[in-house]
Amino acid sequence: MSHLASTDPEVAELIENERLRQTNGLELIASENIVSKAVLETTGSIMTNKYAEGYPGKRYYGGCEYYDIVENLARDRLCQLFGADHANVQAHSGSGANMAVYFATINYGDKIMSMKLSEGGHLSHGSPVSFSGKMYDVVQYGVDHETERLDYADLAEMARKEKPQMIVCGASAYPREIDFKAFGEIAADVGAYCVADIAHIAGLVAAGLHNSPVGVIPFTTTTTHKTLRGPRGGAILCDSEYAQAIDKAIFPGLQGGPLMHIIAAKAVCFKEALQPAYKEYCRQVIKNAQTLAATLEGEGLRLVSGGTDNHLMLLDLSDRKLTGLQAENTLHDAGITVNKNTIPRETLSPFVTSGLRIGTPAVTSRGMKEEEMKTIGHCIATVLKNIENAERIAEVKAEVEALSSRFPIYAVTE
Ligand SMILES: *Cc1c(COP(=O)(O)O)cnc(C)c1O
Repeated sequence: MSHLASTDPEVAELIENERLRQTNGLELIASENIVSKAVLETTGSIMTNKYAEGYPGKRYYGGCEYYDIVENLARDRLCQLFGADHANVQAHSGSGANMAVYFATINYGDKIMSMKLSEGGHLSHGSPVSFSGKMYDVVQYGVDHETERLDYADLAEMARKEKPQMIVCGASAYPREIDFKAFGEIAADVGAYCVADIAHIAGLVAAGLHNSPVGVIPFTTTTTHKTLRGPRGGAILCDSEYAQAIDKAIFPGLQGGPLMHIIAAKAVCFKEALQPAYKEYCRQVIKNAQTLAATLEGEGLRLVSGGTDNHLMLLDLSDRKLTGLQAENTLHDAGITVNKNTIPRETLSPFVTSGLRIGTPAVTSRGMKEEEMKTIGHCIATVLKNIENAERIAEVKAEVEALSSRFPIYAVTE
């Protein structure tokens, strides 16, 4: 930090302010996490200095001998983690990983069948504001409005009627387990490609706590920075018959030089995820989510689908005359970071919404367990029930800070 402080005190101060924000508040955004010091060290390493266009053993630049080894480590560990045939670890992001799968398989104008953004899907699954919605013909499914869960019989019927070339499964805001085998069968039945986007749940899948699409669906994409708890980035797993097409779609199809410091950090993250302690972490993430969900329900709040099987839950605020925007802002004032989120049968715009998405990966990385989840649940409920009461909000903020101070994100003395 001393070099940065003398070169650029402005940025140094921003980083310190952000460190304090992360330390003193509670991060409950379901897609965020807190990486290990080893991952942090690797992302800030000299591995950022070099070009390594191409793949191990086939680079366009000299001097890549150590980069080859580290990329192979990352690929091998990722294959081991998920039992996959082939891994591409160069995707800069989850969205780019999805784009590469589309480029490797379907043609411009082909039909994609995917989950609606407003009911849990992701922008890169065919939203009109994303490349995926502009380049492809998109038909979308949602959840059943009674159960607020996927209905696989409905999906099969839709696939037979629409005959898509690609079926996308996976979500950003779905609190229930996804049946990848069912999706694989639905796609096979209509001769469609299928990709499982496990960006959110990758860690739970790796730990064996959620059924895996690998070996069941030919393509799996992920991010490495959500439950996997690695550096920001993407990755693709596929059956060996598609290995070459996927690698070509990433480079030279979509990207130039790989971010080798990030790939090195992915290797470190995958090694961490192969340890028994990581499985224990994922188990706690789910236990924490279920405890938090039960606490919120105990406070009389409604959860979409009545609970959670994974690391996140969706709070429905529509019966409380609150918007997601209002709730997000007021919780922020109390030191709790969450994001507003659309819910099934949403009537408000994505900038306002009737819901909140809440996740436990980051607070679990800080070492918090069930007791702390009960405290957090009471804090959230207190804020939502006293939305106009500045005094109560300030009291909750003090409680949040007291709780946070017991679980530092990085012990300063290490
Ligand atoms: C987060 C997410 C992505 C995108 O990841 P980026 O790295 O932000 O591009 C893709 N798909 C799903 C389901 C996600 O939740």
